Amino acid sequence: MGEFANKNIWVFIETDEGKAKSVGLELLNPGRMLAKKAGEELVAVVFGTENTAAVAQIQEYGVDRIISVEGAEYEKYSFDAYTYAMTALVNKYAPSAILIGATNNGRDFGPRLSCRLRTGLTADCTGLDYDAESGNVAWTRPAFGGNLMACIMCPDTRPQIGTVRPGVFKKAPVPDKHADVISEKISVPADKIRVRLVESIREAAEGMVNLEDAEIIVSGGRGMGASENFKLIEELADALGGAVGASRAAVDAGWIGHAHQVGQTGKTVGPKLYIACGISGAIQHLAGMSGSECIVAINQDPEAPIFTMADYGIIGNVFEVLPALTEEIKTL
Ligand code: FAD
Repeated sequence: MGEFANKNIWVFIETDEGKAKSVGLELLNPGRMLAKKAGEELVAVVFGTENTAAVAQIQEYGVDRIISVEGAEYEKYSFDAYTYAMTALVNKYAPSAILIGATNNGRDFGPRLSCRLRTGLTADCTGLDYDAESGNVAWTRPAFGGNLMACIMCPDTRPQIGTVRPGVFKKAPVPDKHADVISEKISVPADKIRVRLVESIREAAEGMVNLEDAEIIVSGGRGMGASENFKLIEELADALGGAVGASRAAVDAGWIGHAHQVGQTGKTVGPKLYIACGISGAIQHLAGMSGSECIVAINQDPEAPIFTMADYGIIGNVFEVLPALTEEIKTL
């Protein structure tokens, strides 16, 4: 194990139209735990053209400092600009670890940054702890198709970098703490930006809830039997003001898009209520939804593994239970 001068736990706060994305705010929670155990500070780092709104959001989560980098080149995610700026910050401040949300952008940014800094990256983590004996962050991630959980450390280089799945940690506001904001001006030379984002098109239809931020999710699996039967899932989700999720079996069957997939190769969600309909409860599905506060399972097989995880189980046929449930909820 090396001896390092690097100090402090950084959390990269990804933004969307000037607002902090949920995952960054979630990561401030384990970030604070790591900083406390390591006896270091928790620092949030945010890039954008105008960070006032994002900084105000971050202030609610008890960080020790906020590093805000503003400039036209940071308006949208650009791996060239972001990697350039973060490398400059790391060289200046020498953090011990950087936590990045495993969003599409984070999954691009993390590896590029770790490569630029000649350090390691643990991708797609679902757990974090601090190993006091070695002084390393202990990153946990699924391995071998979700059948094993691997604990990975980065003992030889700093900073330690990892991407962490959205929805794994809960946001935990800390009242009455105000962090210093350090404004850094980092101009990225034009020739360093090789790729520019010309246009981004939102996949979600108007009014559709983002799965990772949804408080209620109704998910359908192979038990729904056909694409057209997913309307029963949509109707219940509509009645509850929730979002529609799915198992991989339903996605692979072409009944619904991959953006709806919950699980190890889909999204990790942590809603208040998760209703699994015709889903058996394979380990790879549970990996994406076991953090839900309340799980309701509807399945005709009383032996289905999903019932071991469910707070409430309805043993029955989805084609009978779902319409009845939707009707009942509409009358409330
Ligand atoms: P099934 O396992 O076939 O279960 C269908 C259930 O529906 C059964 O329990 C049955 O009793 C019930 N049912 C049938 N008809 C009715 C009815 N009329 N009324 C009520 N109940 C009924 N899966 C994911 O979901 N997400 C992932 O991200 C994911 N990633 C994976 C990654 C890897 C590397 C691998 C190997 C697998 C992954 N899987 C993932 C697949 C996973 O192993 C399962 O195959 C999948 O979750 C099964 O989906 P299911 O529960 O819908 O289907």
